[in-house]
Amino acid sequence: MEKLHENIEQIKSEIYDACQRTGRNPEDITTIAVTKQVSSKRASKVIESGICDLGENRPEGLLSKKAEILDPNLNWHFIGNVQSRKVKDIINGIDYLHSLDRLSLAKEIQKRADHTVNCFVQVNVSGEGSKSGLQIEEVEEFVQQLQQYDKIKVVGLMTMAPYTDDRELIRSVFRSLRKLRDEMSFKELKYAPCTLLSMGMSNDYVIAIEEGATHVRIGTALVGTESEGEE
Ligand SMILES: *Cc1c(COP(=O)(O)O)cnc(C)c1O
Repeated sequence: MEKLHENIEQIKSEIYDACQRTGRNPEDITTIAVTKQVSSKRASKVIESGICDLGENRPEGLLSKKAEILDPNLNWHFIGNVQSRKVKDIINGIDYLHSLDRLSLAKEIQKRADHTVNCFVQVNVSGEGSKSGLQIEEVEEFVQQLQQYDKIKVVGLMTMAPYTDDRELIRSVFRSLRKLRDEMSFKELKYAPCTLLSMGMSNDYVIAIEEGATHVRIGTALVGTESEGEE
């Protein structure tokens, strides 16, 4: 518990400093606590510390957390790849989907959603074969095609940086996504305002904020992992 509180204070202060350096307002940044590796009990403690956004990457994890954490003020973020057949299980229980990356998924959302779903289009900026997401060049056409699905609102773009110590490489990935976001939002499409940027995790969220992230998704640096216990 102490540790959790320390983590949160540390992250807040890093976010604040990154904002100071780059002339941003900390209030424009949403910290999503990624709770996929911890229990609902631990996730609840994060909420007590003032975090209102939780992220899960598997349907089962999302559903069990939602069943156990009954706080109507929370925002639920689905941040992982979702199989089309599982869309119906989660789509009406989330506030944001960070992993829209194919038309078949959009079609399934259209069929199953009972409200307009806020979606981030996931982009594989670095082009690593192991990552999901569209290539940068594919995004514009993909977003155009989403116009036919009125249950989908493209609120922004999401990426995961490569796992590397090369800070400049990470920075260039975030910078490319921001540039693409600027181009997309400039179009002022009603169904795709595309103003938000979901990027930055435990080891690179400071860089992400310096490069314009509006949503950082932080797991281990914030909640730790369950094996660390409850100290
Ligand atoms: C797990 C996960 C995170 C958080 O990762 P940490 O390195 O633990 O902060 C963020 N985004 C996605 C998509 C994830 O799957």
